[in-house]
Amino acid sequence: MWNRVEQTAREVFGTFGFGEIRPPIFEPTELFARAVGGETDIVSKEMYSFQDARGDLQEMREMIRNLVLPVVNETWTHASLDLLQKFQSRLGEAMRTGEVRQDEEDRRYYEYFSQGIAHYHLVLSGGIESNKLEIERTFRLLKLAAAGITLGPSVSLRPEATASVCRAYIENGMHAWPQPVKLYYMGPMFRRERPQKGRYRQFYQIGAEVLEMVPPNQDPAKNIGKDAAVDAEVIEMVMAFFGRLGLEGVKLEINSIGDRECRPKYVELLRAELMKVKDKLGPDSQRRIETNPLRVLDSKLESEQGIIAGLPRIADHLCGNCAGQYAEVKRQLGMRGVAYAENWRLVRGLDYYMRTTFEITARGLGSQNAVCGGGRYDGLVELLGGPPTKGIGFAIGEDRLILSLQEAGKGGVAQGRDVFVAWMGENAQATAIAAAQKLRAAGFRVELPPVEQKFRKALDQANRLGARYALILGDDEIATGQWTVKTLADGSQTKMSEAEFLEMLRKSL
Ligand code: AMP
Repeated sequence: MWNRVEQTAREVFGTFGFGEIRPPIFEPTELFARAVGGETDIVSKEMYSFQDARGDLQEMREMIRNLVLPVVNETWTHASLDLLQKFQSRLGEAMRTGEVRQDEEDRRYYEYFSQGIAHYHLVLSGGIESNKLEIERTFRLLKLAAAGITLGPSVSLRPEATASVCRAYIENGMHAWPQPVKLYYMGPMFRRERPQKGRYRQFYQIGAEVLEMVPPNQDPAKNIGKDAAVDAEVIEMVMAFFGRLGLEGVKLEINSIGDRECRPKYVELLRAELMKVKDKLGPDSQRRIETNPLRVLDSKLESEQGIIAGLPRIADHLCGNCAGQYAEVKRQLGMRGVAYAENWRLVRGLDYYMRTTFEITARGLGSQNAVCGGGRYDGLVELLGGPPTKGIGFAIGEDRLILSLQEAGKGGVAQGRDVFVAWMGENAQATAIAAAQKLRAAGFRVELPPVEQKFRKALDQANRLGARYALILGDDEIATGQWTVKTLADGSQTKMSEAEFLEMLRKSL
């Protein structure tokens, strides 16, 4: 199933002129914080981040972390003091030379650590026995301070891949390639979410991006028609992909969320309106009035639906360019025969979207029914240090896509076989092996049972595997060279030579 889905994606995306890119699984945390947005749930709560620290400093810190107070005696206190001082002086040097990057917080922790050592000296000079508790306390402080210091860059498992594709566009100078650059990717993404049906902490996405550098002095208003056609073609491509897979109950919703011109004004208006009804909203929405009022529109809370229905709609507040583009996207979708519904509440969770946004849902997924989300993100490449560039893309949740296909009975048998070789009797095994080798070399999918099976059991298994033909090899067949071939769909059975069988397979499969 996974193979079929991915192969179909490659085929369909290929026909639209997309090539594959394989971004890395982890990247500097900084990249996601900047691209996705530090305020988003994804970055602030859901990312798997860790310090990429190694070398002697990291080792010394580990030793300090593991220090316990077994028998506090003179040898032990001397050894531990030695380790602490070594770490301190080596760290001080690394900070001076820039080997480890220090920000204000790191310097503060370093300061705590140094004070901790001074205090440790003091406590020890008062004798060990009477100060055991104080020694322990000081140690806890020293461990905390050491843990707080950054010893290496922070890296994160990717929660999404658009940021990486944009980074790759910049680093590989893709703005000099023929524009637009059309890329797709597939692979695992990681988010620390509460697992449930259709929501996992490691999940798979298939996505695509269209990136196009904006030539200097280009009048942005002039290209509204072109951008709209690109948006529509990207959406058409996803729908063609889902169509080819036979995904059922597919619904496409679209919206425009404006641009840097008109969205801030709309957000302010929305915030003001929300303030008026603040008391009637739940705690999540109340918080979002401040942090991200657009996300209130996402709310599924029953009690808020009436209020939300009466809020101002962004479609009525788009600037001329955005309104023009939105109208053109709809016309373009119409020309391509892509059915859609407008949903003014579709805002998407990530900071980088502008203008066109869309989401696709499918049947059989319960509440986690979104299989694809996407939108336009002009300006993201520039934000990451590249030239002014337009972008549009989407990400498909592959796990959910497969769930939906399976619910609809489109999962099919695991792999299917062309031929199941049912052999009986010791003499037949050698012939069966030789037959399987020939058939496989000719490209057919063959199942060869490792041990002899009773006739009925062999046929049962052949059926369960979804085999097209059972090749039956027993003493008779070996003796006469006439093989028995059963067509499993209708149960009919005929005899033929090896050459005839191969010929028949070639014609029928
Ligand atoms: P997003 O990157 O949040 O726009 O998500 C795009 C698509 O990825 C969604 O429509 C889902 O189908 C899928 N997706 C997102 N998060 C998860 C998850 N935790 N588990 C499974 N699929 C997910």
